Amino acid sequence: MAVPKRRKSHSKTRLGRANKALTKPRFIHCSNCGAATQPHRVCEACGYFQGRVVVSQEEAP
Ligand SMILES: [Zn+2]
Repeated sequence: MAVPKRRKSHSKTRLGRANKALTKPRFIHCSNCGAATQPHRVCEACGYFQGRVVVSQEEAP
């Protein structure tokens, strides 16, 4: 099995992690209940997505 010849320097480790850094999640307001929710996702408060109920409140935990 291939093994790295040299260990990564602290600088290279940090540079790689900085490159993979995620952006902050964006929030929109639900069109049905107005709760803050992420775009392209079902509203966690009411289960609405694109103007209709996708997840009923009985199913939601
Ligand atoms: Zn909602």
